[in-house]
Amino acid sequence: MSIKKNLIRIREEIPSHVKLVAISKTKPVEIIQEAYEVEQRVFGENRTQELTEKQPICPKDIEWHFVGHLQRNKVKSLVPFVHLIHAVDSLRLLVEIDKEARKINRTINCLLQFYIAEEETKFGLDLEEAKNIINSDEFPGLNNIQIAGVMGMASFTEDEEQIRKEFRFLKNTFDFLKRNYFPDNDAFKEISMGMTNDYHIAIEEGSTMLRIGSAIFGTR
Ligand SMILES: *Cc1c(COP(=O)(O)O)cnc(C)c1O
Repeated sequence: MSIKKNLIRIREEIPSHVKLVAISKTKPVEIIQEAYEVEQRVFGENRTQELTEKQPICPKDIEWHFVGHLQRNKVKSLVPFVHLIHAVDSLRLLVEIDKEARKINRTINCLLQFYIAEEETKFGLDLEEAKNIINSDEFPGLNNIQIAGVMGMASFTEDEEQIRKEFRFLKNTFDFLKRNYFPDNDAFKEISMGMTNDYHIAIEEGSTMLRIGSAIFGTR
């Protein structure tokens, strides 16, 4: 199995407006380097400790995405270099990201994570909670975060129609938020959905960002 070949094959399946985030969690930096050698520059991790250990020893032009559940006390360690935080699911977290980003004069791109799956285990907001964040007194003052769109994880199931339904729901949620809250904000444009088992469906349903791990790097 070749990482380079996997990447090249997957890229051929992806329209040019869709960004591929290579999820390198649990994989050593040598493996990241292999992908880097075929021009992969966007990588994602889901644990802060692993990411903050890898980042300093990887090429400096890598665009790092954080895709995991983020605890507030870990925000400070990511803010100096992270490009996009995919899974923001509370106002408190957003406030913390803003606070740490302001200290070092950065603006951090964030996606609102929505709960779209049937499973009980996944994190994320519903529409009401997202509206409450956007309409909160604090939100307009958060000048060091940029809401760049939405993110979601579909149910882990073989049922393609179920997955499609969940992705469609996320796309509709994005469209609603865009229309009502971010109509003139060009930065609000991303729909992060699609992983190894469902990325073809995600592309059909309007994904702009795929988070793919095992199809590139092998099983974990
Ligand atoms: C691990 C992970 C992925 C990638 O999963 P694969 O099935 O290996 O493609 C995508 N998104 C998140 C949030 C993850 O934790």
